[in-house]
Amino acid sequence: SKTDRSFKRVVLKLSGEALRESGSQDNISPEIVERIACEIKAAHSTGMEIAIVVGGGNFWRGASASARGMDRATADYVGMLATVMNALAVQSALEAEGVPCIVQSAIEMKNVAEPFIRRKASRQLKEGRVVVFAAGTGSPFFSTDTTAALRASEMGADAILKATMVDGVYDADPKKNPEAKRFNKVSFQTCIVEQLKVMDSTAFTLCMDNDIPIIVFDLNVHGNITKAIVGQDIGTIVSK
Ligand code: UDP
Repeated sequence: SKTDRSFKRVVLKLSGEALRESGSQDNISPEIVERIACEIKAAHSTGMEIAIVVGGGNFWRGASASARGMDRATADYVGMLATVMNALAVQSALEAEGVPCIVQSAIEMKNVAEPFIRRKASRQLKEGRVVVFAAGTGSPFFSTDTTAALRASEMGADAILKATMVDGVYDADPKKNPEAKRFNKVSFQTCIVEQLKVMDSTAFTLCMDNDIPIIVFDLNVHGNITKAIVGQDIGTIVSK
């Protein structure tokens, strides 16, 4: 059943791992990125303003490198640079599909991306371009989930679409407990009380404080990005 969510602007969070083919040596699979670009194109053709925040976990995670002895802040900058590579791959695939797209980086890298300028990003979205936010927040000790929460807040987005490898938020780990049930809707408060992990705590509280709903859904099902936008019953919506 279609229930109009009346969203105008959304932030799509793509994890770095979503761009990798499992078991492959390559950090980025051009075929997978192309497939994701087609899904985004379909969603974009509904007239939705779409901003994208890409992760970098297919290359590097600052916390893991730090646990193995590297200085955390430096490791995090390496992770932010990794997201720029992913952003360029996503931009290239979107443009190949005829979807106009710009990349804005939170760490200045003017030969490959525009700098992050909030008002410019907003204008580009209004004009129908997809805007990919690269380099996270530009600061270490944050995640790209937090970046999605921050950009969604400052861009006045109606929701974050968190594309994942699972089809929503469960009341227990579905891999360990076959009885685990998926929520269609769940409140921020319940997530905290029941310790349901949707995003890291910084990202989660930012969404909660700024009243940004999070839609958690499975990216690997064809048509899901569009369905999440128009309000078809997929995944889990976390809201007030
Ligand atoms: N990162 C950071 N600040 C940010 C966003 C990301 O330092 O604002 C670093 C951090 O080291 C992180 C890495 O970039 O581990 C990759 O981002 P993330 O782990 O969020 O990627 P994902 O899990 O979504 O692929």
